[in-house]
Amino acid sequence: MSIGYLNGKIINPGDPVLPIDERGHQFGDGVYEYIRVYGGRAFMMKEHMERFFKSAEAIKLNLSHTPEEIQAIVDDLIERSGLSDCDVYMQATRGIAPRNHLFPNVPASISMTVKPFRAMDETLREQGAKVKLLPDERWQNCWIKTLNLLPNLLAKQEAFEAGAFEAVLVRDGIVTEGSSSNIFLVKDGTLVTPPATKHILHGITRIAVLDIAAELGISVEEKEFAPEAVFEAEEVFLTSTGIEIVPVTSADDQVIGSGKPGAVTKKIYEAFMKRV
Ligand code: PMP
Repeated sequence: MSIGYLNGKIINPGDPVLPIDERGHQFGDGVYEYIRVYGGRAFMMKEHMERFFKSAEAIKLNLSHTPEEIQAIVDDLIERSGLSDCDVYMQATRGIAPRNHLFPNVPASISMTVKPFRAMDETLREQGAKVKLLPDERWQNCWIKTLNLLPNLLAKQEAFEAGAFEAVLVRDGIVTEGSSSNIFLVKDGTLVTPPATKHILHGITRIAVLDIAAELGISVEEKEFAPEAVFEAEEVFLTSTGIEIVPVTSADDQVIGSGKPGAVTKKIYEAFMKRV
């Protein structure tokens, strides 16, 4: 059963419970996390909590809970939901106050939902996904997981309308990440991914993949690359909490590598599935 939580109360996720003067609603003045639950346990919860608190701090938002308190709320919600394979969406905003750009002196709001996991179309994983390269029109602080996702939505929609699964974003001639995923490529057997700068979200799945690569003895380079590197790669894949690891077999309608999901991608995916 899907379940919702708002500032200490259990709610139905569909209930209209927020006033208009809510800063997440009016300004996107908040931060969020999206966490997968496998077998009743939130995956890499510690890393998600670290990122959530770093994001909040970066926007000068004082959360009214400790990471441990949030973890306890999440555990309680998962138990109440009765779901074992599900996802947790969590967001914190600067609260409820009459609309004004200046920060109000009110407590932060925290809301969550626990919902059954919406599985992705598995043929994508078997056959590989198409991506479209698009300009990265976001601000400079993409490492903060804020509610302001409009440039991401516009890029994803444009990619979708062009028949692609994901938009791969390019800033100043450098590939940053997907609209809602991180990007990896394999070149000469080495795994390459853009470094965790301000211009990308420091993905939790990205952390897991880097760790798995080290474990499997695959050499890794965190370095910037241009769009050409995507077309010339042996393999390309995307990572995120929702899609886990998805091979990319074409970019801007050009075939990548053999045109099929590659061996390194498969090896990393299998190791990832063992972990979860
Ligand atoms: N980059 C962006 C822009 C994202 O929205 C996401 C999804 N949250 C990711 C990367 C992947 O991050 P994670 O592995 O933590 O889900």
